Amino acid sequence: MIYEKPKCDCGEELIYYECRSTEYLFKIRKDGEIYKKPFSNSGDHFEYSGLKCVKCDICYHPELSSDGKLIRGERV
Ligand SMILES: [Zn+2]
Repeated sequence: MIYEKPKCDCGEELIYYECRSTEYLFKIRKDGEIYKKPFSNSGDHFEYSGLKCVKCDICYHPELSSDGKLIRGERV
């Protein structure tokens, strides 16, 4: 099967977005201030992702086809 990029109902190609956040660990100084630089971080935490139509500003769940390609899922 030929792969087609996921599109919105309006015909616009969807863009993929994802949000990641990282938790940083800081030590507290004797005077109660927090050190400016973190001494560590607990790594990247994957938060959420989706497919978005920039024209309509609507989002769809991202799904993978049986051969591992990104396709459009249900509308969010
Ligand atoms: Zn659209």
